[in-house]
Amino acid sequence: MSFETNRRGVLRAGAVAGAFASLGGWGAAQDGQRPNSGRSVATQPGGEPGIKHVIFIAMAGGVRTRETFGMPGNIPNLQAMADEGVLYPKMRTSNLGHFGATMSIFTGVSEARGIRDNARGTDPTIFEYLRKELELKQSDVWVTTSGGPQQTNYSYSVHADYGAKYGANTLDGDGIFNKEFKDLLDAYGRPRVMEDSEQELLDTLRKSVGRKQDAAVNREAAENASKVEKYILDELTRGTSDLTGAGSGDGKALRVARNLVSLFKPKLTGVVLQNADVAHGSFSAYSEVIRRNDAAIGEIWTAVKEDPVLANSTAIFVLPEFGRDKDLNSRRGLDHGDGSEDLRYVSGVAWGPGFAKGRVVKDDVRTIDAMYSACDALGAKPEYAKGQKLKRLLA
Ligand SMILES: [Zn+2]
Repeated sequence: MSFETNRRGVLRAGAVAGAFASLGGWGAAQDGQRPNSGRSVATQPGGEPGIKHVIFIAMAGGVRTRETFGMPGNIPNLQAMADEGVLYPKMRTSNLGHFGATMSIFTGVSEARGIRDNARGTDPTIFEYLRKELELKQSDVWVTTSGGPQQTNYSYSVHADYGAKYGANTLDGDGIFNKEFKDLLDAYGRPRVMEDSEQELLDTLRKSVGRKQDAAVNREAAENASKVEKYILDELTRGTSDLTGAGSGDGKALRVARNLVSLFKPKLTGVVLQNADVAHGSFSAYSEVIRRNDAAIGEIWTAVKEDPVLANSTAIFVLPEFGRDKDLNSRRGLDHGDGSEDLRYVSGVAWGPGFAKGRVVKDDVRTIDAMYSACDALGAKPEYAKGQKLKRLLA
């Protein structure tokens, strides 16, 4: 994306956000759901001074250090972020399979208790901790996923003290950009600007997208989704639905995240990727996914740095859930199961105000530590998490 395109996008995003504000505010109808502890955010103790927003990217799918920081040409943006932030080249992983290991990144618990594939976990997630402790509205906390209903399970747990009422808004890239959605656009045309008369179309779209959503998603979330759809629709008219090929699910999740960050400036924007797992069958497709995701993460970073509100108030964390085997398989792909260092350790990056700049921390840390630091940066303590603050993160 050119600078000019990006700039136009940001300017237009501001106009759309302003329109929402004039409609009474994003998520204004949620107050009835807010916890009633009587604490105000302003008096919340702790937190990293200056950090008001966190973008937390699970670069999942199994990504080795060898193809990331071992080959900086693949990841110019992540390398630049590390040069301005902190690189952890020895992050120990929770090798529980993709689903459990990725969930552990969000729960801070590596022994994912009672986890079945495609089910919610029992340990509270970063989203729930932040919403409950900081009394955040659902509109403050988002997760965009690369695809598949399985990944919507990361948005909240079944923990009795947390759960759905503290969950994140969830956008599935393939749910929003799904076939029905595009078919409808083809049938109704692609309006440049949404008019009142197009409300009917939006209602239809909302029903279409809603079918793919978790049954627990409440009406409020559906209303939020319809507002996002308005923006996404406009994005589609600029050709962003043309993301295809290796890594397109990840690309969509990252694009939706960038739009969210520019438009709504959430407290927490989570992203779950997965396309790197094409590595089982193709090393070259896997390398391509890494390069494309680096470029898309770079777009998010640029959006943050060019936004006067976000530039000096946003922290970004990026980490894989685990690596991959040391040696190629018989298909010239890479599996994950050999117990090698390439599998058990990954490289993660943290960037933000107050964090060290250009520091490489060679100590052992854990992938479950990242969410602990993200919570800490915003002033929350994840009660049941087993990680700890990332070592030597602060300047
Ligand atoms: Zn796999």
